[in-house]
Amino acid sequence: MTIRLLAPQVADAIAAGEVVERPAAVVKELVENSLDAGARRVTVEIRGAGRTLIRVVDDGSGIPPQDLGLAFQRHATSKVASLEDLRRISTLGFRGEALASVAAVSEVECRSGGARVRIRAGELTEEGAAMPVPGTVVEVRDLFANTPARLRFLKTEATEQAACLKVVQGYALLYAGVRFELLVEGRASLRTAGDGDQRRAAGAVLGSEAAAELMTVDGDGVRGLVSQPRLSRGSREGILLAVNRRPISSRSLGYAIEECYLGFLEKGRYPITVLDLGLDPGSVDVNVHPTKREVRFHDERSIFGQVQRSVRAALTQSQPYRLDSARTAAFDPLSPRLGAPVLHEAPPPMFAVSSKPPALADGPAGGVLRPLGQVLEGYLVAESAEGVVLVDQHAAHERVLYNHFLARLAGGPAASQPLLLPETVELDPGEAAAATEHGERLAALGFEVQEFGPRAVRVLATPVETPAGRVVEAVRELLAVMVDSRPQDLVEKAAASLACHSAVRFGDRLDATEQRRLLQELEETQNSVTCPHGRPTRLILDWQDLKRHFRRNY
Ligand code: ADP
Ligand code: MG
Repeated sequence: MTIRLLAPQVADAIAAGEVVERPAAVVKELVENSLDAGARRVTVEIRGAGRTLIRVVDDGSGIPPQDLGLAFQRHATSKVASLEDLRRISTLGFRGEALASVAAVSEVECRSGGARVRIRAGELTEEGAAMPVPGTVVEVRDLFANTPARLRFLKTEATEQAACLKVVQGYALLYAGVRFELLVEGRASLRTAGDGDQRRAAGAVLGSEAAAELMTVDGDGVRGLVSQPRLSRGSREGILLAVNRRPISSRSLGYAIEECYLGFLEKGRYPITVLDLGLDPGSVDVNVHPTKREVRFHDERSIFGQVQRSVRAALTQSQPYRLDSARTAAFDPLSPRLGAPVLHEAPPPMFAVSSKPPALADGPAGGVLRPLGQVLEGYLVAESAEGVVLVDQHAAHERVLYNHFLARLAGGPAASQPLLLPETVELDPGEAAAATEHGERLAALGFEVQEFGPRAVRVLATPVETPAGRVVEAVRELLAVMVDSRPQDLVEKAAASLACHSAVRFGDRLDATEQRRLLQELEETQNSVTCPHGRPTRLILDWQDLKRHFRRNY
């Protein structure tokens, strides 16, 4: 074989593959162009999962008629001119490749001002005057018709269509000031108000019930919405993260978010987030990936911290689970969870006329949980100003103890009690080594542990919370967890393990004093809506709902 330069059309089709690997990529590039043009309205239309038609109409600044053909050439852009510009990119586009790439693998018509061009497989086929439009209209037809290999790599129609939707949803959430409309096969699938209210945009995208379960994040340069622990999903699909309103994928920052939800969500559950990091354009390099989806931070570690601080601050506002007819507890808007309680909506009140304002009037005052008793030897029943509260005694106690232990591991005073009879705990060599290695942590928790040969330790004192009868099991588990955990979450895992082995169990009978003490501790502790494993600690049956159920609304 001799070496030859590729024909431009072939070279362009190859290059196009990097930018436009699926219909959703076309949607993304066109919407980005509209947003860069300052559009306040963007309408996206999709047919045949984007293969038949993708049309994006905007009311942005438009393209000057004489530049219309130029815009479709590779490396033609109005957004950067110099290398210096490239270091401080503040637009979504900057490579000047998108329109050329799209045109290389489809048939495109673009209208702006009073002009239009038509390009097929990279060749300009028509050029001329057209009916004037306010901004820009780009129509992409027969996508990948001339690149059968790419066509074969597409997933099912449903998947490709969903990917297109997701792109528009992402921008609709991040650009709440822009009115988005998405038509799929002629039917409206999304419409946002464009009034700048992000929560309202979230309502349009996720549904109003889910949007009501989002908490505001605003601090440390991070803004947006994150879900309450009681709203979660079974995949990471609901996590949207952006830098300067550009959606990005970042393993590390994704992990930063997930880590904040440790102790709030059960394993395998993920939050819904819309988070935007406002960064100086000079401190992030967006020019590292053809689709601009990956970025490089100059100081990733400090950004990791920013994300965690802001999300954690929001999570302190978490609300407890409610058995509520209007807003179902633990619901998942998009993929309902198997086994979740099915809660039926209460029938409407027969007499809507109310003599009293519908306040939380008749419950006891204050946020105090007043114990009423224990049921099934596992749940405490209490009442509060909000309603009847059911408390999972084990989960609640776990949370209380977990917070105690964490505080001690962070340098708080230890609270230790000597054992009347020291206990010997048999260990495997790894665990025995962990006892030595983590000696300071064990002491901080309140343990006094001595080496006792190569395969055992003697426990002379324990944390005050750990019942004497459970010391052996607790110590062995704690050391096993310390052996297994990664350094970054060893402290949390250790605290959770010890909390689990020290807490009252489901099935333990608690007397009135114990009930009262546990409820009070629960109320005083932070992040008390879930246990350290993310399971709920309590469930509230609202007074209002109770009354509605018994038709006492008048
Ligand atoms: P880039 O966005 O990286 O500059 P594109 O190939 O996406 O490259 O677009 C090329 C140029 O065409 C843009 O720089 C912009 O000047 C112009 N353009 C494209 N789409 C629009 C639009 N919807 N409104 C106004 N100008 C547009
Ligand atoms: Mg662009």
